[in-house]
Amino acid sequence: MPNHVFGRSTKGTLPVAVRGEGCYLIDATGKRYLDGSGGAAVSCLGHSDPDVRAALHAQLDQLAFAHTGFFTSVPAETLADTLVASAPAGIERVYLVSGGSEAVEAAIKLARQYFMEIGETGRHRVIARRQSYHGNTLGALAAGGNEWRRAQFAPLLIETSHIAPCYEYRDRRPEETVEAYGLRAADELEAEILRLGPETVMAFIAEPVVGATSGAVPAVPGYLKRIREICDRYGVLLILDEVMCGMGRTGYLFACEEDGVAPDMITVAKGLGAGYQPIGALLVQGRIYDAIAAGSGFFQHGHTYMGHAMAAAAANAVLGAISGRALLPRVRTQGAKLQAALEAALGQHPNVGDIRGRGLFRGVEIVRDRETKEPFDTALGVNKKIKALAFEAGLICYPMGGTIDGRRGDHVLLAPPFIIEDAQIGELVDKLDGAIRGAVG
Ligand code: PMP
Repeated sequence: MPNHVFGRSTKGTLPVAVRGEGCYLIDATGKRYLDGSGGAAVSCLGHSDPDVRAALHAQLDQLAFAHTGFFTSVPAETLADTLVASAPAGIERVYLVSGGSEAVEAAIKLARQYFMEIGETGRHRVIARRQSYHGNTLGALAAGGNEWRRAQFAPLLIETSHIAPCYEYRDRRPEETVEAYGLRAADELEAEILRLGPETVMAFIAEPVVGATSGAVPAVPGYLKRIREICDRYGVLLILDEVMCGMGRTGYLFACEEDGVAPDMITVAKGLGAGYQPIGALLVQGRIYDAIAAGSGFFQHGHTYMGHAMAAAAANAVLGAISGRALLPRVRTQGAKLQAALEAALGQHPNVGDIRGRGLFRGVEIVRDRETKEPFDTALGVNKKIKALAFEAGLICYPMGGTIDGRRGDHVLLAPPFIIEDAQIGELVDKLDGAIRGAVG
């Protein structure tokens, strides 16, 4: 088949995916791949879910698209109602977009416009964390804390500075309790706000469980609560980016539920459409929407495909399946089994430094030296080797090189469908074990 689709890599060709069945993808040669990462934490219901397919067929027969400059639609309103009803306290409005980066862009622009409308016009800066990923469009890229992604596009549009992530495995001091570490890490935000001048800072953005750059690194208990207090103290908006960790991935519909924190805005995407449609959403506190409604009455933003009826119908079916099939408790049980199986297979491996995560969102950190936590040299491309060996064995997992102390380290992110069975957890761990051993010995 000619390879004219322009993708991420310009090297080599990719197999052609032709079918999806539950936790498996099948390529044109008939080879089956266990989807151990749901692509990238997307396919939470697995592939070819009958309820989502039926919902999409029904919506297509009714209405595919009505421009949001003229209309709202039944599926879009239903989706916003469901999200608001299950969101943390104060969330009252939903802005529907087509993906994660768009949701983050909308959040940044809404924050800026909010402060303009209420007369705090000097607030334009964003604070984020090192080793974070918030998307690839220019504003979202500016927010992200991954130096190698940002470097060649600098100077970036939004002025962002980055504090340390909450990364217990690497940053907690041996004598420190987890709680004390969480407070110390959070207090970096206060220091940064004061350094910049509170009157210039509009928002702090963070993922409750860091996904793409760090391999499922959860905030420790108490960290986000302290962050919330600091944001409140200085009038800074708290944006939680749950594009990867939200929509049930951690065993809670919103990851921040577990942290007991109500942010000013939440971004979601990936699992919301579960791969059936491109969709994302920005959830917003009522007071932010109200300030704009009482001011200019017009959010200066918008995309042609926002609020697409087919996308909203898919998301409604996904959320219906999550609640109707009691998938959140299932994510917690299967997640605990996955963690236990990973620990049993890899816990003593000399090159496995940490196995962590929440729910069915797990990360394995690969190190050169378990004692010193020293990562492998980037040039060895350990994460690429693991990806290739796993893929060859018929496992899709999501290995990547994050940045550790300014250098690249290696992690594997796992985010299988919520429907994963015990036997498939076994298959996933066996194949991953083989790939890691093949890559590092
Ligand atoms: N935020 C987070 C936390 C993400 O993980 C991602 C995607 N990996 C994005 C934003 C961007 O989402 P998208 O790729 O849908 O634009």
